[in-house]
Amino acid sequence: MDKTLGKCTCGELEFECEGDPINSVFCYCPSCQRLTNSDKWFGLWYPKNNMKLLKGEPVVFIRKGNSGKNMEHLFCGGCGTTIAAFCEAGDFYSVAASCLKNGSRVLPKMLIYTSQAASWAQFPSDIPKFDILPPGMGG
Ligand SMILES: [Zn+2]
Ligand SMILES: [Zn+2]
Repeated sequence: MDKTLGKCTCGELEFECEGDPINSVFCYCPSCQRLTNSDKWFGLWYPKNNMKLLKGEPVVFIRKGNSGKNMEHLFCGGCGTTIAAFCEAGDFYSVAASCLKNGSRVLPKMLIYTSQAASWAQFPSDIPKFDILPPGMGG
């Protein structure tokens, strides 16, 4: 399967994702707003075993997701870039599209947590919108 390389801004962390993402999502939840200081996080979802760190040790920040299970944020202690968040409830990584080599060519398939979006958030048209997370998708 094809592998896609990813890295943080300073290059201390490098990783690869295997195959195609199982989902590509704009998340507008308050945590993602703070994470990005923007209206959304663009996450490409990869099953746990399809995301591998190649170089460096990320700093890990753990918070509880809405499911009550852990969301583990992996970020670089050197430059602060968050490369991915592991969603325990769904057993997948939400990888930062902006850190992946081909990330700028991937389009979002759904918009989630739009009920919690900033008043100035931008929603692309023609993409399914969900108030929170569609059932059974982790969180
Ligand atoms: Zn870095
Ligand atoms: Zn979010």
